[in-house]
Amino acid sequence: MVIKLKIPTIPITEIEQSAFCQTDEELASKTLAEEFSAGVRWQKLPVEYMRMSPEELRQRITSARAKLGDTAVILGHHYQRDEIIEFADVRGDSFKLSQYAATQGQSQHIIFCGVHFMAETANILSEPHQKVILPNITAGCSMADMAQIDDVMDCWDDLERVLGDKGGVVPITYMNSTAAIKALCGRNNGIVCTSSNAPATFDWAFERGQRVLFLPDQHLGRNTAVKMGIGVDEMVVWNPFKELGGHTEEELINAKMILWQGHCSVHTRFTVDQIEKARETYPDIHVVVHPECTMEVVNAADSHGSTEYILKTISEAPAGSKFAVGTEVSLVNRIAAENPDKTVFCLDPVVCPCSTMYRIHPAYLSWVLDGLNEGVVVNEITVPDDIAEQAKIALDRMLAIV
Ligand code: SF4
Repeated sequence: MVIKLKIPTIPITEIEQSAFCQTDEELASKTLAEEFSAGVRWQKLPVEYMRMSPEELRQRITSARAKLGDTAVILGHHYQRDEIIEFADVRGDSFKLSQYAATQGQSQHIIFCGVHFMAETANILSEPHQKVILPNITAGCSMADMAQIDDVMDCWDDLERVLGDKGGVVPITYMNSTAAIKALCGRNNGIVCTSSNAPATFDWAFERGQRVLFLPDQHLGRNTAVKMGIGVDEMVVWNPFKELGGHTEEELINAKMILWQGHCSVHTRFTVDQIEKARETYPDIHVVVHPECTMEVVNAADSHGSTEYILKTISEAPAGSKFAVGTEVSLVNRIAAENPDKTVFCLDPVVCPCSTMYRIHPAYLSWVLDGLNEGVVVNEITVPDDIAEQAKIALDRMLAIV
C-alpha cells in the first residue's frame, strides 16, 4: 500500500534556524517530542515514536532494517546527524547518492536521508520499480525554496524579451534546486551542475551562448565565475521581487552572468573575521571552505571545494595537520572524529546544523522502516513524468561532460 500525501513546503523560521544552534552542548538527538518543544513544525508522527528514547529507536531501527535486507537501501547525506549516518548503507553528497541509488536495482525502496530535492533527483535517476522515500516530508532546503518555478519562469520570459537577438542565455542550475527548475534548464538548452563540476558546465554553457542565468545559489555562481576570469562588474543579481530583477534593460544586456538571488543559510554564516581568528590561534592552520560561502570568505580561505573535496583534502593530509572548515557542522564533527591525528574544527564557534537536514530525526527513519515491513510506503517522493523527462535531459548533459 502506498499512502499518497500532499507535500507541504515548511519554510525555515528564524526560531527553527537557531533552535539547534549551541555553543557548549553535544548535538546528540533527544526524543522527538523534546525536539518539537523547540518550536519546530515538522511532520507529526504517532505518539509512540515521539516518545521513544534514542536507544529505543536505535534498537528498533536495527531490527527493522535487518528484516528488510537488500529490498531497501538507506542513503545518508554528509550533513545528516550521526544517529542517522550509522544506518546509512552509503553516505555522500546529493549527486553521488542519487547515482548510487540508480545502481541498486535490487532495492525496491530507496530511503533518502537528506532533503526534498535530493529525493526528487533520486526518483528521476532511479528505475521505475523503485520507490524513493523521504523520512520527514518537511525536510526541504531553504536554498532550493528561494527559486520558485513561477518566479524563474517570469525571469526567463523577461530575459528573452529584453535580450532577444542580443545574445543567448544558457540556464545552469545547481543540483540544489527543485525538479521543476532542472526541467526548465532541460527544455531551454541548459544544464545542471554540482559544486565540483560547476567550472566544466560554465565552459559548456559559454560554448553555446553569451551569458549564463545561474540558479539558485548566487555565491556558487559568483565564485565559479570569478575563478574563470569573469569580473564581478560583469555580473548582476536577479531579485525575483523586483521588476526586471531590479535592473535596467541596459544592465541586463551588459551582463555576462545573471545570478539568482538565493543562498545557503548554513554556508553564509562563515565570515572573514572567523578566518582571521582561526589564523591568530593557529598560525599554521589550513582554512578550507565550501563554494556556497560568500566570495569574501572563499577568497580569504586557503582552498575551497565540494564536501567530497573537503573530505579528501583532510583525510589525505599528514598527521598533525590543522584545518578550520567552513561547511555544515555535523560533517565537520564527523571528519574530526575520523581524523583523530589532526586538528579539525568548524570555523563558526556557534554550532549550527543545517536545520532542514536536521529534520530527519531517527524517529522518522524508524517509522518509515516499520511501515515498509508492514507493506506500507509512506512519504514517497515522485516527480511528474514530463518534469522528470525534461530534468533528466539537463542531468544527462552534465553527465556527458564530466
Ligand atoms: S546546507 Fe544549505 S544548501 Fe544544503 S540542504 Fe542545508 S540549506 Fe540547503
